[in-house]
Amino acid sequence: MKKYSLFLLILLLMVGAVSAQEARPGSPGIGDPYLPNLGNGGYDAVHYTLDLDVDFDSSEIAGTVTMEALATQNLSVFNLDFLGFDITSIVVNEVEANFTRRGRELRITPPEPLLDGDAFTVAVTYGGIPGAGVEDADSFSRGWNWYDGGVFVASEPIGAAAWYPVNDHPRDKATYTFEITVEQPYVVAANGLLRDVIEEGDQMTYIWQSDYDMASYLATVNIAEFVEVTEAGPVPIRNYFPARLADDAQQVFAETSDMMAFFIDTFGPYPFDVYGVVVADTPLFFALETQTISLFGAQVVPGAVDGVIPNLSNTEITVAHELAHQWFGNSISPANWGDIWLNEGFATYASALWVEHRYGAESFESMLDFFYANIARRDFTPGAPLEDGLFSTGVYQQGAWTLHALRQEVGDEAFFDILRTYVERLQYSNASTDDFIALAEEVSGQELGDLFDAWLFAGGVPPIADTAG
Ligand SMILES: [Zn+2]
Repeated sequence: MKKYSLFLLILLLMVGAVSAQEARPGSPGIGDPYLPNLGNGGYDAVHYTLDLDVDFDSSEIAGTVTMEALATQNLSVFNLDFLGFDITSIVVNEVEANFTRRGRELRITPPEPLLDGDAFTVAVTYGGIPGAGVEDADSFSRGWNWYDGGVFVASEPIGAAAWYPVNDHPRDKATYTFEITVEQPYVVAANGLLRDVIEEGDQMTYIWQSDYDMASYLATVNIAEFVEVTEAGPVPIRNYFPARLADDAQQVFAETSDMMAFFIDTFGPYPFDVYGVVVADTPLFFALETQTISLFGAQVVPGAVDGVIPNLSNTEITVAHELAHQWFGNSISPANWGDIWLNEGFATYASALWVEHRYGAESFESMLDFFYANIARRDFTPGAPLEDGLFSTGVYQQGAWTLHALRQEVGDEAFFDILRTYVERLQYSNASTDDFIALAEEVSGQELGDLFDAWLFAGGVPPIADTAG
């Protein structure tokens, strides 16, 4: 009996020691080898509410962003990623907190240390002109971009922290509510479902809700004089087009529901509850797979931009590419930015699969021949891209060829079984290149290390006999 109570006493002392354990600062980076300062450690973001007023006259945005999170260690201090703006207050669990800033690190000291497992909220109130603190001039680094008559937001990979405070890494996905106030006649299009529009004088607040976890770089707010155009599909499809372009834009995106049906057949169920596109009324040199609402520039619409005659078949391939990202890249997020071929190689190959399905084997083969000629000219390692080559041709086209080589090696049946199993197991989470290789070997029952090494890591491209699928 005595022995037993001694044991209990020791146990109690141990429990006491754990709860009194020194709280320590959360890491200022999540541990991505490519972009070590992105994200933060010590907590897990669960939900963001972005309550922002947008002022077209001053180009300022102002409001409060609230993050609900869970501590994953005892925290004396934790960081958010956030660049620019004036911060007027930070409140942790309803109590004012102290903070310091250095570059994109916002370091917050909660009034009481947070204990491992605690749920907490942090509300950051701020305002200013987005992008004012951003050194890189490109749209993706700024995240929030004004143009004449509107706003588009594109943040891959590091732009999210330039418009809202966030744990800015795809490994910490969260759900979102957007409460965006604009003056009439502007319309807001964001991720997920439009839950409400509240009119107050000449101000309109659009409430959008994204109930599926989303990586920070995929969060988007688009503002312009949009009209909503809906389309029947396997899930509701709602597109936001500039009013002046609506009829022509509708033609450009007319195949979305057929593409979605084909990808559902090929990869498995569409992972979210809604889809559509938004067209910014300005030319963009890119398109982006912003979750449930892919972003395109006006130049894809015939006649929209003076002097630009869009290549409709290129546009169709891009439309398929951004839709395929909803499975590959959005629902399955990369574990690290170095795994980006799991986004881009897959979406590129998916668009080739659409071409094969819609236009036949010859069109498919000539697309793959075109990619092969591009990648054979240079030494790409898509599985370990150069730090400034995350979005290189090698990541897209050699990544796509890696999948094609896999298909040739294991045959169509096993190949599509691999893709469907990958989606089924890893959707709504993160995957690494190693995860995909292990899964491909498991499903096919074959040893595939040499194939993946040759296409992803060795540099150069293996010779090919022919490109027949
Ligand atoms: Zn892409």
